Amino acid sequence: MWWNEFVGHDLARRPDILSRVYFANPAARTMVAATWDAFVQAPGPILQARADQQRTGQHQVFHPDPQGGIAAADAAVSSWACWRLLHEGPDAAVVYFEGVDDAGHGFGADSAEYRSALRQADELTRHLVKAVYERHEQLGEDWLIAVTTDHGHRPEGGHGDDEVEVRRSFLITHRVGGALPEALTAPKTLRSEDVMWRLLDAIGASQGSWEADGVGVLRGIDPIGPSRDLDYEW
Ligand SMILES: [Zn+2]
Repeated sequence: MWWNEFVGHDLARRPDILSRVYFANPAARTMVAATWDAFVQAPGPILQARADQQRTGQHQVFHPDPQGGIAAADAAVSSWACWRLLHEGPDAAVVYFEGVDDAGHGFGADSAEYRSALRQADELTRHLVKAVYERHEQLGEDWLIAVTTDHGHRPEGGHGDDEVEVRRSFLITHRVGGALPEALTAPKTLRSEDVMWRLLDAIGASQGSWEADGVGVLRGIDPIGPSRDLDYEW
């Protein structure tokens, strides 16, 4: 996927990080809390719904009603996720706040609104980190925290295109209860498509024994929808 268009994507055959944790260990418990609906529903979902695991509570999904505005939705995402991180301690979790993206589109990266959205996201993230630290202190659990985003913003706002400040992202990692594994300290630069694999490596979730053994796909399945056809992108 190049932009936010979700056309011609291959997400069904390239599962998300939480699904891959589950595939690596079918006893794993996962959760996602996200303000942007694409994470958990159309036009995505970026994170597969895994209805069977939702039914048994093994995979939990939270997407707040955005009616009260994005700041309130982000706060709801944070408090939902904090409670579960603290009391249930899932094996892997994805939490997404939309406030910074929203301020970036509306006002640009060089605006007071953007800085205030960053502070809000920092504060909400701090609550998540605190929950994880508490688990470490009380139960001796080992946690990896990773913070990233899908794109940056132009100083003057708007969605942007392929400007370097729009394409460039970051990955901040911190381990609670040990040193960072080499998968995360070794690379000096990272491409977006490497991030998930390095995080999976870092937590020891290994994948793809079928592929390695040469067992599996006999016949490819074409992705649904056109790809890179500008008539279908918006
Ligand atoms: Zn955006």
